[in-house]
Amino acid sequence: MVEIAVSEDSKKVLLHSCCAPCTIYPLKRLEEAGFTVVGFFYNPNIHPFAEFEKRLDAVIEYYREIGVPLIVNASYDVSDFLKRTFCDDVDRCEACYRIRFSKAFETAKEEVVGIDAVTSTLFFSKYQDHEVLLKIAKDESVKSGVSFHYEDYRTGWDEGRRLCRESGMYSQKYCGCIISEEERYQKKSEPLLKALGGDHNEF
Ligand code: SF4
Repeated sequence: MVEIAVSEDSKKVLLHSCCAPCTIYPLKRLEEAGFTVVGFFYNPNIHPFAEFEKRLDAVIEYYREIGVPLIVNASYDVSDFLKRTFCDDVDRCEACYRIRFSKAFETAKEEVVGIDAVTSTLFFSKYQDHEVLLKIAKDESVKSGVSFHYEDYRTGWDEGRRLCRESGMYSQKYCGCIISEEERYQKKSEPLLKALGGDHNEF
């Protein structure tokens, strides 16, 4: 069990952090609102492993820099993640959110003393499905008995992105899983493939 000192009148929130750039604004908001924040990293959706390490390093560096405690769960079981998310009858992103949120709520319940609620930096991203995130966070809150703190952090998108650019921190170019990486680079290579005269190539 991790114990973190907190003043009597402050609420303690576990902030699931998907990456450093998306952490800046939500963490700032929570501190301004009087919460004591404990960060939590658990993102087995980041592929390949070298990219996972880069994002994890950036998150650790950021929390260290601002002096906020961070719990890292560096479990990285790609085959389990793929089995649970890439099946015909499963919505990939929904399953991915559930894997990460269930671990965050479980950790808040079992590993940190006195956490009042859980929230996530995924609510900052304009690229995630906000409604599905909400549904799953509420489900996991009910299952675990730990409160969910909701805020639509997307309102601080411009500020968060500006602070990220100014800090010079590592900022990724795709969501995380290998499919999102393919989608991103496929879009990028479309003009080149067109110029080569087809959707396949023989480099
Ligand atoms: S696109 Fe993003 S949210 Fe969806 S499965 Fe891949 S990593 Fe998870």
